[in-house]
Parts: sequence; C-alpha cells; structure tokens
Amino acid sequence: MSKSTSSFKDLCLKTLKESGARLTKPRLALIDCLAAARVPLSPKEILQRTELSLDAQESIDTVTVYRILDRFCELGLVHQVAPNGDYIACTHLACSASPHIMTFCTSCQTASEIHVPEAVLAPMLWFLKDKNGFEPKEHLFQLDGTCTRCKEAP
Ligand SMILES: [Zn+2]
Ligand SMILES: [Zn+2]
Ligand SMILES: [Zn+2]
Repeated sequence: MSKSTSSFKDLCLKTLKESGARLTKPRLALIDCLAAARVPLSPKEILQRTELSLDAQESIDTVTVYRILDRFCELGLVHQVAPNGDYIACTHLACSASPHIMTFCTSCQTASEIHVPEAVLAPMLWFLKDKNGFEPKEHLFQLDGTCTRCKEAP
C-alpha cells in the first residue's frame, strides 16, 4: 500500500513538473489526500481533508480545489467516477497505452482501476467501431457491480 501511494505521488510530481505546473502546497496536499483515499471523494470531502493538512496562510477554498482537480483530470492523474463525478487517484499512471476499466462497487463505493489487455478488449472495440460506428477515445470506462469482499459478506 505504501509503495503504490508513494509511486502515485512521485508520478504526479513528475507529470506536474513536465507540464510546467508549480508544485504549490495546495496541489501537494491534494495529491496526498487522493493517494490515501480508497473510495472516490467529492470536491467537498477533498477540501475538508486538505484543509486539515494546510496551515492558515496557505488556506484553500472550493474554487482552488475544483481548479486543481480539473488540471489533474486533464493530466490523467485522477479519474471521475459515476454517478457522482467524485474523484479517485489513477493507479495506472505508469501504463500508457493499454485500456483500463474502472470498477465501482455499488455496495461499498470502492473504485479500482483494472488493466485490461489489448487482446481482451479488441473484439469489443471492433464491435463498437464496425457495427455501431462509434470510436472510443477514452482509454478508461466504468463498470458498476459488486466487489469480491461485498459478494463474500454474509
Ligand atoms: Zn488511470
Ligand atoms: Zn464492495
Ligand atoms: Zn495499467
């Protein structure tokens, strides 16, 4: 767990630096907050959590949180999860090409990103493109269901 947390942070810092973004305290606080979360968080929850880790001079507000989240989304550092559009850290920052599926457990709200081999998705992408004339551009989509833990729960 701590390993994936630190690598999310490292990859975020690298991506932000490469994009020319300054590593401000609020940005760093948001990265830490998202790295620690296992369920998608709303901007309000993110604000509440990051406020605690910042002191008064570096106060953060809703507008700042939205702006940072927008930027992080553009850079692919976070994903929005339906139905609320809450935010979760990308756990596959190191992969570039292969498609990912976000699974969302409707019982415990846990979201996880699954790496799907190209060959597994190929028939579906072909079906969408050739039979429905739709070309998927985003590499990530979401499936709602029940996670293993919830399925095993009595
Ligand atoms: Zn991702
Ligand atoms: Zn679950
Ligand atoms: Zn991956």
